[in-house]
Amino acid sequence: MAKLSQRAARPIEVSVNGSPRPVSLPLHREEGDDADAEPASRRPVSLAQFQDQLQSNYPPLHLATASEDDSSPEEDVAARTATDAGDADFVVGPQAAAFRARCFPEATDAEWNDWKWQLRHRIRDLAGLERCLRLSPDEHETAVRLGDRLPVGITPYYASLMDPDDPMDPIRRTMLPIADEFEHSAGESEDPLNEDGDMPVEGLVHRYPDRVLFLVTSFCATYCRYCTRSRLVGKTGEYHFNTRQFERALAYIEATPEIRDVLISGGDPLTMNDERIDWLLTRLRAIPHVEFIRIGSKIPCVLPQRITPALATILRKHHPFWMSVHFMHPAEITPEVAQSCGRLADAGIPLGSQTVLTRDVNDDPETMKRLMHALLRIRVRPYYIYQCDPIPGSRHFRTPVETGLRIIEALRGHTTGYAVPNFVIDGPGGGGKIPLSPEYVVGRDGDDLLIRNYEGHVFRYPDPLPDGAVSLAGRAGSTAR
Ligand code: SF4
Repeated sequence: MAKLSQRAARPIEVSVNGSPRPVSLPLHREEGDDADAEPASRRPVSLAQFQDQLQSNYPPLHLATASEDDSSPEEDVAARTATDAGDADFVVGPQAAAFRARCFPEATDAEWNDWKWQLRHRIRDLAGLERCLRLSPDEHETAVRLGDRLPVGITPYYASLMDPDDPMDPIRRTMLPIADEFEHSAGESEDPLNEDGDMPVEGLVHRYPDRVLFLVTSFCATYCRYCTRSRLVGKTGEYHFNTRQFERALAYIEATPEIRDVLISGGDPLTMNDERIDWLLTRLRAIPHVEFIRIGSKIPCVLPQRITPALATILRKHHPFWMSVHFMHPAEITPEVAQSCGRLADAGIPLGSQTVLTRDVNDDPETMKRLMHALLRIRVRPYYIYQCDPIPGSRHFRTPVETGLRIIEALRGHTTGYAVPNFVIDGPGGGGKIPLSPEYVVGRDGDDLLIRNYEGHVFRYPDPLPDGAVSLAGRAGSTAR
């Protein structure tokens, strides 16, 4: 269950259908607080009390397409796959065409290009895996050990990018479980970023003062083995994603004027249907202090058929609206993905990439450079490379931090500046993103700053310090190296 944030309690007003109503948010209650010292309406209350208060304040919400009840992510597929004609204008690349002929020969063009057909036909069990791939003994034994319900989901489109004979295929490594996942190491944690500890309302992470992370679903089209939120994706349990939870989160955002930026994530928000996405964005856009809305998604990469003209039309209504898209390897940049990102870019949506640095997937400078170049070609700006978070059983994915620094070193100055993302570690326990960079300031010599270029040549830049100022580049008057 979500714990309360450590921010100070303060009385607020929640606007309900345009009328302000006082609510005391249970942000934090110190030991020894004298609750009787304040009027009842301003007294900090428990999270349960706050939730009850919100429920009684809000009239029931009626959404034709939204369920009021929690349902399992897989049950929810049915609701997501009711109808849709295939997108006749959508491209089918050569790899997908060959794979479809081999593994899904019965699928028509219209079906293959229908994102709901793709969701319905995800590969989720041993039989499905064996239908499309020649499994290694490790992959096979792990699948048997995990049983009937593998924590696996792969769209047929994304499976088409895998080498059926090579277990070291980089995309395959990110999707298929292997025995290394059962080995848990020191420092690993279910919630390595302590997101649950920064949730003032269930599903809403408020870590940085001016922005929130709004988790809206535990469902993804594909499940990545290294996922930071592996504790919740593809599962039901203590996390609840439904309209009531959305209303509580929206009330908190509405009542917290410092929040100017909302990142919608999950799970993958673009697996929700069009109406629900439109409803959520409309509600957020109606909050005056929310300046900036983003969605984090892997859909344009693993289920590009989801980026229909209708969805692009909905998203463009809510500008300024940005999107962060999760990419792992240059092999993901196909004609289909170029079309999905092109539709989003044509709708005026700035696209940035997020990539997890992962051993034997993308942990060498040449692979990363090819990925960054390919992203620029499809109008996605490389944004972040993340050091892999220490979730349980992730040691085989993690690289030394030095590997990431070497990759940035190999990009910076050696290629277009736009192709160089930020390399960050998300601080374990909730420290936020910490940028890491190779050192280009090598020291100071008197009034000169000594700086190094991408070729390793050192240059002097005249940079006298004001009296009393302390140099960040080492002690004034000395040469660091
Ligand atoms: S798509 Fe994102 S949220 Fe879903 S499993 Fe992959 S990393 Fe996790």
